[in-house]
Amino acid sequence: MSERAFYVTTPIYYISGNPHIGHVYTSVAADTLARYHHANGPAFFLTGTDEHGQKVAAAAAEAGMTPQAWTDALVVKWKAICARYDVRYDDFIRTTEPRHARQCVEVFERLKASGNVYLGKYSGWYCTNDETFWLESKLIDGRCPNPECGREVQWLSEDNWFFALSKYRDRLLAYYREHPQWVRPERAYNEMVATLEGGLEDLCISRVNLDWGVPLPGGGVMYVWLDALLNYITALDYASDGERFRTFWPANVQLVGKEIARFHTIIWPAVLWALDLALPERVFAHGWITLEGQKMSKSLGNVIDPFEIADRFGSDSIRYFLLREAPFGSDFSFSEEKVRLRRNGDLGNDLGNLVKRSLAMLVRYRAGRVPTGAHSALGARFTDLGKRAGTAIAALEFREALEAIWEFVTALNRTIDEKRPWELDKRGDTAALDTALYELCEGLRWLAHLIAPFMPTTARGIWTQLGLEGEPHGAWSTELVWGRLEPGSVVAPSDEPLFPRL
Ligand SMILES: [Zn+2]
Repeated sequence: MSERAFYVTTPIYYISGNPHIGHVYTSVAADTLARYHHANGPAFFLTGTDEHGQKVAAAAAEAGMTPQAWTDALVVKWKAICARYDVRYDDFIRTTEPRHARQCVEVFERLKASGNVYLGKYSGWYCTNDETFWLESKLIDGRCPNPECGREVQWLSEDNWFFALSKYRDRLLAYYREHPQWVRPERAYNEMVATLEGGLEDLCISRVNLDWGVPLPGGGVMYVWLDALLNYITALDYASDGERFRTFWPANVQLVGKEIARFHTIIWPAVLWALDLALPERVFAHGWITLEGQKMSKSLGNVIDPFEIADRFGSDSIRYFLLREAPFGSDFSFSEEKVRLRRNGDLGNDLGNLVKRSLAMLVRYRAGRVPTGAHSALGARFTDLGKRAGTAIAALEFREALEAIWEFVTALNRTIDEKRPWELDKRGDTAALDTALYELCEGLRWLAHLIAPFMPTTARGIWTQLGLEGEPHGAWSTELVWGRLEPGSVVAPSDEPLFPRL
C-alpha cells in the first residue's frame, strides 16, 4: 500500500519522571501506525529516552549515583511501560549510548564546517545555585525565580556555540505556506507560523557549565534539545550513511505532544536543512489528556498510573479507548467511567460477544469445522473496508478507522440476529446455515487483521480461536479479500471471554 518504507517516531521521553498516560497515548498511536505499516510493507518505529541535562545530573547526585547508573536504573520502567502496552518498537534509543554521542559530535562538526555553527557570547542572568540562565522577565525583584532558591543572580557572559537558526526563518515560512499539511493539526500549524512571523534568534547549542551531556570538542556539552532531536537520525546510523538511514529517512510521521511542537517544527527542520537533509513528511502535535476535565499534575495528585489502569482494564481496552474516544489531535478528558463504558459496550457486548456467539454456533451446528461459504452479500458490501480503514489509519484518523471497523462488527452481529442460525438449523436449511456461519468466521478473520494495529492481544486471541497459526500477518490488500478462510479448517474457541465484564 505504501510506496516507500515507512518511518514513525515518538519523542524520546525525558527519563527522570515516571511514565504517565500521555506517554502511553503517544506510544500507542505510534505503535498502531507502525503495526499497520509493518503489515503492509517495510516500516520502522523508533522510540527512546532523553537522558542528559541538568535535572538528571542533579537527581542522580541526590541519589548518590552517577548519572549513568541513575539512568540505567530508570530506563527499565520506560521499557516496561512499552511492554505493558504491547508497544513494539523497532529500536529504542538512549541518548547516553555511544552510537548517539559519536554522531552528535559528527553533526556538530558538519554544522561548523558548513558555517551553520559559530562561536559567540552567551549572556544572561545566571543563578549559580540552580546553574540556570533566567530571562530578565522571569526574575522576581531581580532575584532567582525558583521559589526554593530566590538567591541573587549574576550577569554572566560565556563563550558558546550558536546555531544560525535565524537565517532559516524565511525559508521556513515559505515552506509552511507551500506545505500546509506538514505540521498538523491546524492549531499547531498556525501557532508555529505566528512564532516564525515574530522572528527567530540564533540558538545557543552548547553549555560550558554542565558536564552531563554529549561532550563537544573544545569543552562544554551539547544543548540537551539539540542532542535529543538528533536521535531521529542517529538511530538510523545517519553519520555513516547507514542502510537504515537510506531506507527510512525522511520520517513519514513524527509524533509529538503539542508542548514540544516548536522544537520539532522550527529548530529541527532548520537543523535538517543545515545538514542538507530532507524534512519529515509530517509532524503531528497531538493534544493533552485531562482527567475529568482537569489538567493532570503531581501537585493536584490526580495523575493516572498507566501500569495500574492496564492491570485493571487490560492494555487493549486502554489502547482502544485512547484512540477511539476523541479525534487524534484534540485534547480529551480521561475518565474511568468512560473507559468502562467502551470496555463493556464496544468491546464486551459488540466484539467479545460476536466472537463468542459465532464460534459457539459453529461448534454446535458444524462441529467446529468451517463450512464452504457461498456468495456473500456481506462480503460484497464491505469489500473496500480494508482500504477505508487503512487510509484512515495512515492519515492518523484513528477514531474514524475504528468507526469504520465497528460498522462491520455491527453488521456481523446483525447477521446473527437476522439470519437466526438456530432457526436455519431447525428448518434444515443447510445452504443458508453454511453461508451464515462462513460469513461469521470469515468476518472474524477480517476483524483480527483490522484490529491488530489497535489491539494486538485481542487480535491474536481471535486469530487463535479461529484455529489459525501465529498472529494476523500479511498485506491488507491481499488478506482482506473475502473468502480466504479455508473451508474445512477447525476453530478452537476459548472458554475465557475476550473482555470479561467489569
Ligand atoms: Zn536560584
